[in-house]
Amino acid sequence: TRSSSAWTQDKIIKTPYNNIEIPNATLYDYVWQNLEKWPEKTMSVCSETGRGYTYEQAFNLSNAFAANLRLKLKIRDGDTVAVMLPNVPDFPLVAMGILGAGGVISTVNPIYTAHEVHRQLLLSAAKVVITMPETMGVVKEALKIAKLDIPIIVIKTNGDPTPEGALCFNELSEDTHVDKSCLKDVRRTPKDISFMPYSSGTTGMPKGVELSHRNLIANFEQMNDINIKNHSDTTATHQDAVMAVLPFFHIYGASAIMFHKMSVGAKIVTMAKFHPEKYLEALKKFKIDVLYVAPPMLLLMGAHPAGTSETYQYLKSVINGAAPLADSDMRRFLNKVKQEFDFRQAYGLTETSPLVLMPPVGVNNLSTVGYPVSNTEAKVVDENLNNLGPNETGELLVRGPQVMIGYRENPTANSEVFTEDRWFRTGDLVFADDQGQITITDRLKELIKVKGFQVPPAELEAVLRDHPAVIDAAVIGVPHPTKGEAPKAFVVLKSGQKAEANEIKEFVKEKVAPFKKIDEIVFVNSIPKSAAGKILRKDLKAQYS
Ligand code: AMP
Repeated sequence: TRSSSAWTQDKIIKTPYNNIEIPNATLYDYVWQNLEKWPEKTMSVCSETGRGYTYEQAFNLSNAFAANLRLKLKIRDGDTVAVMLPNVPDFPLVAMGILGAGGVISTVNPIYTAHEVHRQLLLSAAKVVITMPETMGVVKEALKIAKLDIPIIVIKTNGDPTPEGALCFNELSEDTHVDKSCLKDVRRTPKDISFMPYSSGTTGMPKGVELSHRNLIANFEQMNDINIKNHSDTTATHQDAVMAVLPFFHIYGASAIMFHKMSVGAKIVTMAKFHPEKYLEALKKFKIDVLYVAPPMLLLMGAHPAGTSETYQYLKSVINGAAPLADSDMRRFLNKVKQEFDFRQAYGLTETSPLVLMPPVGVNNLSTVGYPVSNTEAKVVDENLNNLGPNETGELLVRGPQVMIGYRENPTANSEVFTEDRWFRTGDLVFADDQGQITITDRLKELIKVKGFQVPPAELEAVLRDHPAVIDAAVIGVPHPTKGEAPKAFVVLKSGQKAEANEIKEFVKEKVAPFKKIDEIVFVNSIPKSAAGKILRKDLKAQYS
């Protein structure tokens, strides 16, 4: 079904995969469409406690929750509900409940500080926050900073009483008396927003990424194309077990692992907090056959003594994404797996639901991220947006049904990231070979990725400038042996002011999640800037790394 060359005469890379028809449905209807085929199968299960739900339980509980979101919490069509949860088996129920109520899901990293959370709650105009009892304090603090007064719902995983001032998810979802007829009033169309994660994109602070129902459904159908599909169909005798250790708050986990795998009836095995030995143990214990990883996990799987061929014996497919993978790390892992299995690298972004590039099953070159998926076009351009040809390196632009509606209420960022004819600028440097097979070579945009997580320099720079002794700051990413990259800061002190690097590091650490912390600070007299005032990060990189 694949044609060999994907280049067109005007230097556009067409998909070599099947053209697909995108169902005209909402995400809610799409995910549950095959429910009657597997009601008794496990939908989600916690790898540590064994707590979990069947598909039928998940459907019933999430619908009761949806009805209560409308009746008790007054959620209406298009209202945003913030979800600040680790990967617990209840996460998919929460997500489906919000969709069932007509709401928009906006995810927040559960290890964020109150400072980070408050900004996101304000930007998304959240009407309700759903979190764990452990993070309720952070949410309360965030609401105080944001001067917001919205209800908090917590998920209880044990018999502890519901924290003061919170509503209990378990009560709202186990409510068998709730009148579900209110759900008939929900009016959502495929072009409405369904999911709004955060991304800084090519520049600046994190922005709300508006993904429609259609964006996500298109991406699931693209994943299902026979040429690239990495899962098996659920039957009476087979159900894929998928490890959900990549966070559901990030598009990779939410889309490829949670929503898509629910739509195909897989078993989603959740891990709330990454722990190397427990993770390796879970691969074996739950006979995980479909695995999604980011480079630091693959590095660990190749290097950890507890990760043996026995640990990996059930793996049928491993997909790597989210950040560049070192060939040596990949080889070390591949050498540990004894059976034949599918290993591929996929490429995507929050803004593209996420999948845009993926090699076909059985690809020979494991370092490439392959071709544009179904119904997707790509091109490689120079600084003036002129199309480049085979083996020329430039910025990757893509166009397809999975590309976001846009950044929420941010016309400036939208005009920067979309060309006039709606090509989306990825900010990544790539080249494509004669066949149109794409290799990522570098990142053009300022974004730093630590262990695959976004660390927007602008965010750290704003925190640094808040320090009383600091007048200006710039942050760049430098290579790190295990994290991929780490942020390095350049700081200009106010005249006559003194501050130690350690004190500034501590100051930042209190305001940001642990993965964003700055390891290295260099004091400088000035930050190199363009005439327009833009930080010349390339100059800093060239000078200091
Ligand atoms: P995010 O929006 O957090 O998913 O980040 C998207 C960015 O991650 C992309 O623009 C790339 O810079 C990077 N990325 C994603 N997948 C890959 C990959 N397979 N190889 C290299 N970089 C990747």
